[in-house]
Amino acid sequence: MLCFHPMSSTIPVARPSSPEAAMLERLLPRITLADGPHEAIAVRAPYTGNTIGAIPAGTVADLELAVQRARAAQMAWGRRTFGERARIFLRFHDLLLERQNEVLDLIQWETGKARRHAFEEVLDTAIVTRYYARRAQSLLRPRRRKGALPLLTRTMELKSPVGVVGLIVPWNYPLNLAVTDAVPALMAGNAAVLKPDVQTSFTALWAVDLLRQAGLPPDVLGVVTGEGPLLGPALGERADYVMFTGSTRTGRLVARQAAERLIGCSLELGGKNPMIVLADADLEAAVYGAVQGCFASAGQVCVSIERIYVHESIAGRFLARFAERTRALKVGASLDYSMEMGSLTGERQLQRVEEHVADAVKKGAVLECGGRRRPDLGGLFYEPTILTQVTEEMQLYAEETFGPVVSVYPFGSESEAVERANATRYGLNASIWTRDTARGARLAQQIRAGNVNVNEAYAATWGSVDAPCGGRKESGMRARHGAEGILKFTETQTVAVQYLVPVGAPDGMDPSLYARWMTRLLKLLRHIRVLA
Ligand code: NAD
Repeated sequence: MLCFHPMSSTIPVARPSSPEAAMLERLLPRITLADGPHEAIAVRAPYTGNTIGAIPAGTVADLELAVQRARAAQMAWGRRTFGERARIFLRFHDLLLERQNEVLDLIQWETGKARRHAFEEVLDTAIVTRYYARRAQSLLRPRRRKGALPLLTRTMELKSPVGVVGLIVPWNYPLNLAVTDAVPALMAGNAAVLKPDVQTSFTALWAVDLLRQAGLPPDVLGVVTGEGPLLGPALGERADYVMFTGSTRTGRLVARQAAERLIGCSLELGGKNPMIVLADADLEAAVYGAVQGCFASAGQVCVSIERIYVHESIAGRFLARFAERTRALKVGASLDYSMEMGSLTGERQLQRVEEHVADAVKKGAVLECGGRRRPDLGGLFYEPTILTQVTEEMQLYAEETFGPVVSVYPFGSESEAVERANATRYGLNASIWTRDTARGARLAQQIRAGNVNVNEAYAATWGSVDAPCGGRKESGMRARHGAEGILKFTETQTVAVQYLVPVGAPDGMDPSLYARWMTRLLKLLRHIRVLA
């Protein structure tokens, strides 16, 4: 019995003069706009298809202005102490938790996700903000290094901000992806310019507005809204570092441009993430994990599970229970916590999901549940879908669907499961289910992915914000979270002070005598381990 719910009448339509429209209007001055006319881009709510507001289509001149202002503001910002910067972000953290309902509504209007999944964004944003507010100073503190000559060379490694960081953000997690990379960049003393996706700019603007209310000087974090293919390259042309989250296809363009300019970039890209369920797994826990891992935010999560390999001894039972729980999911549009899955965010995304499923079914895949668009629930709903008998020639076998669709396959041996999990050009996230956690952790090391969760789908690694979270292979370069998530926004400088004698031959010394002494010294040091 499917538990789909008709669209609730409480979904707002931001009519001119409504309180919702007034709230969105109030955010527009946060955008950097150069003089001159700007076209308006309408933003539609996925639940209803109605326009909730309009954002200006930014131009290259807007971006130029935002980067100039950020560059000017960075000088004073970079001189502030870590404590001063941290106070602003901790205030933001508190305001975010207090005023979460405003942004939860906004995320739902713009993305169509269920409220429980919007709340994951609030949670993640608060946790990462607190982490970097508290840890940035120790992660970036000057470090004493072994000098060229023991006792006579005093060497320090210093970290300084790169300057202006360009942040390019997708639509699927518009709050946390806009804020959680900005916070380490800013805590490190950089300024930044944020380019959100057109579909979810109001959520990003709300966050920037809150940061300013918390005390962030306006130009330290500028925002320009508008089309990615115009503004993305313009930002890449001007920033000192680009932090990009989005598709592998666009990520390649960003990397190419950064290479040409010899600036750094960090790429958080797509995935085709596997889950392995071993024979000894707690079946009910694995089924619950699969439901969360495949259908959170209607599968529009980079770390979402799209392939499940189940040991053949339990595959039948797993599939039956997984399909049963999936069919029972409450899917619908509601601004409270009652729904378990919301809608897709864009028509293009929905078409991709339909295309992948139709192609698979045409080529012989079996639909265990779902497989249909649900216009009766709202504009962009699609049933959570499980497929079996998926084969290599089907589009969704290897391509990221980025929707509520998963393929389930049986496997015989552990090595076969690992081999099939690794048979992908991506390497973002993986999940292993077993009662033998030591075995799970060992197996994890054979998976070529940046994040491997044992007895969780993705939240254990993503939520461990003290550890890096990034993709291997075509899933990205570098990582967010942990030390790496802030060090990448800095440049390294080594300062060495030399005392008493120079590092090379002393003035007037016979170079052959120097060479002999140094050779003896090196042989000695090899045994007494003074220098590495
Ligand atoms: P996308 O690449 O189309 O867009 C991402 C961002 O890039 C948007 O802001 C867009 O406006 C901008 N953009 C578009 N053209 C650009 C260009 N030429 N130069 C620079 N920027 C440009 O991706 P999407 O469809 O919005 O997002 C979905 C993808 O993002 C999925 O593949 C998903 O797996 C991935 N993603 C990855 C992570 C991660 O942490 N690894 C997180 C979320 C989403």
